[in-house]
Amino acid sequence: MVTCPLCNQPMEGVDPQDYGGFNDLYICGACQIEQAVYWDMGERVVLQNDDENQKR
Ligand SMILES: [Zn+2]
Repeated sequence: MVTCPLCNQPMEGVDPQDYGGFNDLYICGACQIEQAVYWDMGERVVLQNDDENQKR
């Protein structure tokens, strides 16, 4: 389970499409931040979701 680094709530998985090679992308409905997970490296990267242009 992936939890939000800010509010520690479970994050919702979304389709990462072609964001740059990471394996999974999760979004926190409360904080509106996205977290990319590279399972191979065991690395998690928070993507601040404050860019209006990224809305799909
Ligand atoms: Zn959160």
